[in-house]
Amino acid sequence: MSIPGIDLVIVPPLRDLGDGFHVKRVLPSPSKMMVGPFIFFDQMGPTHFNAGQGLDVRPHPHIGLATVTYLFEGEILHRDSVGSVQAIRPGEVNWMTAGRGIAHSERTSPAVRASGGPISGIQLWVALPKAHEETNPSFAHFESSQLPRDLSLGASMTVIAGEWRGVQSPVEVYSPLFYVDARLQDATKLSVPATYAERAIYVTEGALELGGHRIEAGQMLVLHTGQEVVFNAVSDSRAVVLGGEPFDEPRFIWWNLVASSAERIHAAREDWQAGRFQVVPGESESIPAPELGAARPRSSESTRTS
Ligand code: MN
Repeated sequence: MSIPGIDLVIVPPLRDLGDGFHVKRVLPSPSKMMVGPFIFFDQMGPTHFNAGQGLDVRPHPHIGLATVTYLFEGEILHRDSVGSVQAIRPGEVNWMTAGRGIAHSERTSPAVRASGGPISGIQLWVALPKAHEETNPSFAHFESSQLPRDLSLGASMTVIAGEWRGVQSPVEVYSPLFYVDARLQDATKLSVPATYAERAIYVTEGALELGGHRIEAGQMLVLHTGQEVVFNAVSDSRAVVLGGEPFDEPRFIWWNLVASSAERIHAAREDWQAGRFQVVPGESESIPAPELGAARPRSSESTRTS
């Protein structure tokens, strides 16, 4: 499918993480590993947990990245090795900078688990620029009311992180990027300016139209550099738009680890297996690292399309 202004359409595979919990793994994709500094993109759910069911992502490590969690429905309780305990709800942002190393868990709290309920949202990883890869780990939470909205073009654009059309999110970022939640009424337009070198859009509800092509929910479109692209909503729709400036050097990704060298990933795996990460207060379990084996760290060099 060739669409003017679009380099690539990514239709993510559905992955079963167990207990009926599904994610769509959009990035890294076989044909495109990164969009600007964004190196990982999972759409969680939508899933409905029955009473007594919930999410249980046991403690695991991260390095070299920041995780960004943004929910559409439900609630997740985050705990990490810098001592944070934070519930996240729809419209709020959890930004966790892993830097030189952090461990965290993501679970459904006992109170929410007792009643069951929906869960739906997006978790992204933003790779850190080389100068900040070994920065101290930290965690920040932002309420929905703290996020600015851009209504200037007819759509409601919530700026989750970075800068969009001169509107700046309070979330601290480490390289030029933007990440916005766009809500569109039927027959309105969404214009994505050429500001950043790499940009992509992922439709989460409804459908958009571009150049006579219909873009359904569950697809990511990677936009052509240097070109403003204007989408039309063909129903009440929602999409996230993101991007930024690419790094000069490739990134390696393996399991939950991101680095500018494969050696750093091997060292972090050893550290995790040897118990050298800080523990997550309140947790006694952990996820063991997989064997390095056949699934060696992947480099963004081999998937670069521009
Ligand atoms: Mn994680």
